[in-house]
Amino acid sequence: MTIAKAYAAQNATAALGPFSFERRDVGADDVQIDIMFCGVCHSDLHQARNDWKNSIYPMVPGHEIVGRASKVGSGVKDIKEGDLVAVGCLIDSCSTCSECKDGFEQFCQGGMIPTYNSYEKDGKTLAQGGYSDIIVVKRGFVLKVPGNLDPAAAAPLLCAGITTYSPLKHWGAGPGKKVGIVGLGGLGHMGVKFARAFGAQVAVFTTSPSKKDDAIRLGAHEVIMSKDPDDMKTHLGSFDFILDTVSAPHDLNAFLPLLKRDGTITLVGVPDSDHPPVAPFNLIFGRKSIAGSLIGGIAETQEMLDFCGKHNIVSDIEMINIQDIEAAYKRMAKSDVKYRFVIDMKSLAA
Ligand code: NAP
Ligand code: ZN
Repeated sequence: MTIAKAYAAQNATAALGPFSFERRDVGADDVQIDIMFCGVCHSDLHQARNDWKNSIYPMVPGHEIVGRASKVGSGVKDIKEGDLVAVGCLIDSCSTCSECKDGFEQFCQGGMIPTYNSYEKDGKTLAQGGYSDIIVVKRGFVLKVPGNLDPAAAAPLLCAGITTYSPLKHWGAGPGKKVGIVGLGGLGHMGVKFARAFGAQVAVFTTSPSKKDDAIRLGAHEVIMSKDPDDMKTHLGSFDFILDTVSAPHDLNAFLPLLKRDGTITLVGVPDSDHPPVAPFNLIFGRKSIAGSLIGGIAETQEMLDFCGKHNIVSDIEMINIQDIEAAYKRMAKSDVKYRFVIDMKSLAA
């Protein structure tokens, strides 16, 4: 047993503060990781504040974890002490159901175990996330980080990266396809980078005029102001695929007419309440689809990291100390993120 230092939310309204708890000893199939960096996802804010009405406290958020393997179980042959490794949004699953066997651990029929805000398989140990100095995770849920990537800027790949990579690949973003990314935040800016790397024509839909230049720098070919009906109208019927990363409720009816026949808008954002109703006419005319996507499986997450290593793709980050987490949450709530906060975990010792 090791005592981990961390920052935790004690309830939905209190500021996060220092906290310590026990991490299990390293079992034969486990890897212990000294956490160097942890990205700050909007899901951390949603869950710390109980937006989704399922929060368990005390809660140590954080599921974009990068660090060094510091102890390796006797049964782990392909990771050694000192390796640069990572943990994303899930730490366990049943491994026997058809979803797990097909590499979709995130859809495990027995219930996947998220990295925090959940109980581990024993049903009583609270899973605690990456705003901490150490974590112990089964080898099967540990990822390897390509050595050429900056470890801090690679951390957001573990959630923002895979959550955009997976649907863009699944729905065929690539040469000859026009792809829209709605919301230029942590997920959105990774979506732009991947859609561009896959060879698609990329447009960003934003509510923030100040992000226009950044959108182009990040790889977008064009920027559309989603609250300007005239700007939206010039793109009617032109998109093959739209990936919606927005963290707040908004009107999907504004985007459906912009899809081509058989086009799809896929939701990855999880607001604290539902979007306004969708008008059936907006789907019927043009045989359009609304879909959803949840992170990605472990093998696909490793594939995404390897793709990033090959193409030198990382997140644009703003490094913070753990003591600044509340200020970062406030800015995130105002869409003022450029484009992912990452916590330097050395600051826990301060
Ligand atoms: P983020 O960095 O805060 O970015 C969200 C962006 O949405 C903002 O930067 C803003 O972009 C836009 N936005 C915010 N409020 C808006 C509003 N009222 N109307 C229109 N646009 C608005 O958040 P994130 O970390 O990327 O996460 C985004 C969402 O995805 C969250 O709900 C999160 O919980 C969810 N998520 C889902 C998965 C999954 O597996 N499905 C995984 C991770 C996260 P502009 O300034 O450009 O308008
Ligand atoms: Zn996340």
